[in-house]
Amino acid sequence: MFLKYFSVFLFIPFISCSQEHRPETKVSWFVLGQDSVSVSVTDYGGKRQPVYINLHDDERTSLQAAIPVLKKYGGVLIKINNSGERNLVCVIDSASYKFDPNRIFSRNGIVQSLVKHKRISNKAIDEIEKFARFILDHLPEHPRLIIALHNNINGSLSISSYSGNGEEAADAAAVSRVHNADPDDFMLTTERTVYELFRNRFNVVLQDNHGARQDGSLSVYFAGKGIPYINCETQHGHLPQFSRMLLAIHDSLDKIIR
Ligand SMILES: [Zn+2]
Repeated sequence: MFLKYFSVFLFIPFISCSQEHRPETKVSWFVLGQDSVSVSVTDYGGKRQPVYINLHDDERTSLQAAIPVLKKYGGVLIKINNSGERNLVCVIDSASYKFDPNRIFSRNGIVQSLVKHKRISNKAIDEIEKFARFILDHLPEHPRLIIALHNNINGSLSISSYSGNGEEAADAAAVSRVHNADPDDFMLTTERTVYELFRNRFNVVLQDNHGARQDGSLSVYFAGKGIPYINCETQHGHLPQFSRMLLAIHDSLDKIIR
């Protein structure tokens, strides 16, 4: 029996402001094959709600927008630390495996992500599945709203991907676009209430929670758990747009959180 993971508490000081909470960060490491991956959980107060999750460590604009909102209004931020990279790479029995950390929340998803990245084994699937459980174990006990933080590259994933013949259209129950918004800036939610609340101000996708592909993403995982989920996504660098989304969500929390 060996120590599978270990944790350390850090206190991150910042200039005190009467309206802001003192964030407390706990960093835990998971041993994944021959490597260790760390996950940070920062508690900004406010009864540890909502729960913000940043899985892709290269999507920094989303964090830049979220941290001031967390400092001001509270919540929890869970993030994977991956040296600024999107995909994780691990070495298991001398073979290197690569996967997308937002495709590991079902066994199917793990298999598909490993196949996409050209190498797969039963042991890798098992270890990555344990890593996914490790991340989920860091959630507060009764999460009432999950806000996922993502950025994309101009012209790749966008609101257009979810409509017409778009690659993601099969996963959408409804899509609403606003004319003055960049198609790269959008929300994806599991909740019709959220869709209706924001569809006149932002590009919004309502996920088809029953029909969406079991791709191991957090949106499908939380839909299965019945926990309200909003993925906020803008093009890299669209900080004002991201901040606007998060503040709009904050202003409507009483309507979103049941
Ligand atoms: Zn992402």
